[in-house]
Amino acid sequence: MQHYYNVIIVGGGISGTALLYELAEYTDLQSVALFEKYPKLASLNTNGKNNSQTLHCGDIETNYTYEKAKKVKRTARMLSNYALKHGYKDKYIFKFPKMVIGVGEKESSFIQDRFETFKTLYPYLELYERNDLAKIEPKLVEGRRENIVAMGALDEYCAIDFGGVAESFAENAKKAMKGVCDIYLDAEVYQIDRLGDKFQLLTPKGKYFADYVVVDAGAHSLLQAHKMGYGKEYACLPIGGSFYYAPASILGSKVYTVQNDKLPFAAIHGDPDILAKGKSRFGPTALALPKLERYTENTYLEFFESLRPDKSVMKVFYDLLSDDDIRDYIFKNMMYEVPGIRKGLFLKEARKIIPTLEEKDIEFAEHVGGLRPQIIDKKNKKLLLGEAKIDTKEGIVFNMTPSPGATSCLGNALKDVELIVEYLGCGFDKKRLQRDLLEEEGKDMSISSNTPGYIVSAS
Ligand SMILES: Cc1cc2nc3c(=O)[nH]c(=O)nc-3n(C[C@H](O)[C@H](O)[C@H](O)COP(=O)(O)OP(=O)(O)OC[C@H]3O[C@@H](n4cnc5c(N)ncnc54)[C@H](O)[C@@H]3O)c2cc1C
Repeated sequence: MQHYYNVIIVGGGISGTALLYELAEYTDLQSVALFEKYPKLASLNTNGKNNSQTLHCGDIETNYTYEKAKKVKRTARMLSNYALKHGYKDKYIFKFPKMVIGVGEKESSFIQDRFETFKTLYPYLELYERNDLAKIEPKLVEGRRENIVAMGALDEYCAIDFGGVAESFAENAKKAMKGVCDIYLDAEVYQIDRLGDKFQLLTPKGKYFADYVVVDAGAHSLLQAHKMGYGKEYACLPIGGSFYYAPASILGSKVYTVQNDKLPFAAIHGDPDILAKGKSRFGPTALALPKLERYTENTYLEFFESLRPDKSVMKVFYDLLSDDDIRDYIFKNMMYEVPGIRKGLFLKEARKIIPTLEEKDIEFAEHVGGLRPQIIDKKNKKLLLGEAKIDTKEGIVFNMTPSPGATSCLGNALKDVELIVEYLGCGFDKKRLQRDLLEEEGKDMSISSNTPGYIVSAS
C-alpha cells in the first residue's frame, strides 16, 4: 500500500516528537511518520517563548500533592537524562537556583511543613531563611517587611528549552530509526477515518494509512477525538497565559510562589528567560480564550466544537464563578491583558516576588505565552488540571497536554509506546529505555498500559 506506516503521529510539538523518538530508538517498528500542520516543528505551546521553560520536578510546585510530585519527578528525570545524555547541557537544559517562597506567617509555616515532608523525596532541598535569601537573591528581601522563607536548591537542572528539545527528538529519531522515519511539515491532518483494520489520514499531501495513530495535536486533540466519535464526555477550555518582561538584573533564580488551593491555575513565578537574553519574566497569567491557538484567529469555531457547551459545562462554569476567590482571580487575569491599566495591576502581583519592583521595570511581553487546553470532565462536572489521555483501545489514542505536559513528554510517550507494543505486537527494548532515561529509578517505572477504556491522567 502506498503511503503506509505502522504508526502515524499527528502533531509535531514536544509530545509528538518525544513519541517519534522513543518509537525510533527503542522499538523495532518498520515505519513511523509524523505530520505537523505548520512549516516548523514546535511552533505553538512547545516553543520556549510560549511556556514557562520549567522542568517541573515537583519540588517547588506547591500546587502538586506528594503523589503528583512523585510522578512528575520521574518523568522530569527522563527528560533531564535524555538532554544530558545527548550533550545538551547549557544548550537546551540549564541550572540556576530555584525556590518557592512563602510570604507572611501563614505561608512561611506552610513552606516549613512542606519542606519536612518533601525533603525525603528530594534530598537536595534546602530551607532558606531571610539571611540566606539576602545572599542568594537579595531583591527578594529588599524592602520587604513581612516574613519570608523559601525552600529550593542552588544546583539543580530547572530550566529547559522545550522547543529545542522537540527538534532534537526529531533529529535523533531519524538517526536512530532502522526503517522508515518520515516527518511531513506544512501537513495538516484534516480528517482521520477507520478503513477496515487501518486508519486513513487526509492531508494536503494526499492520503496516508497507518495501523496505529497517536494524536498529539495539543488543543486540537480533543476536537479530533470528537470528530471520530470519541471523548464526548470531555470538553476543552483553553487557558491563555501571558508574561511580563523585566531586565535580567532583577532576578537570577527561578522563584515560584505558594499556590492558593482554591485557584485552578498555578500561581505566578519569576525567572531568567533562557531564550530572550538579558530579560527575566514574570507570569504566566491565566485567561480563558475562545480559540484553540493563541495567535491564530480562525480557531474560534473549532473552540466551540471542542467545548460543546451543554448543562454540564455550564455547571462547571457556574461553580467556578460562584466562588469569590476564583471570580476575583478570573477578573484580575482579564485586566492583566488590558493595555493602559495592565502593567499597574500586574505589578501588585509581581511585587510578591520582588517588593521593590516598579512599573518602569516591567513591560507586557507581546506575542509571548501560549495556551493550556484544560479538560472539563462533563460526567463528573469538574475541571481537570493536568494531562489527559483518551485510549480508545481501537488503535488510536488522543493526548491532551496542558502543563506539565512538556516536562512529562517522555513519560507520556512511554505510555503510548506500551499501548502500541501491546496492540501491534512489535518488539520494544524497555530495559535499554529504562537504563537510558530512568537510571537507578528503573524499579519504579511501572506506567501501566492495562487501564481499561478511557484513561484520564489528570494532576
Ligand atoms: C503559559 C504556559 C506555560 C507553560 N509552562 C510549562 C512549563 O514550564 N513546563 C511544562 O512542562 N509545561 C508547561 N506548559 C505546558 C506545555 O507548554 C505543553 O504541555 C506542551 O507544550 C504540550 O506539547 P504538545 O506537543 O502536546 O502540544 P503543542 O506544543 O501545542 O503541539 C501540538 C502540535 O500539533 C500540531 N497540530 C495540531 N493539529 C494538527 C493537525 N490536524 N495536523 C497536524 N498537526 C497538528 C500543532 O501545529 C502543534 O505543532 C505551559 C503552557 C503554557 C501555555
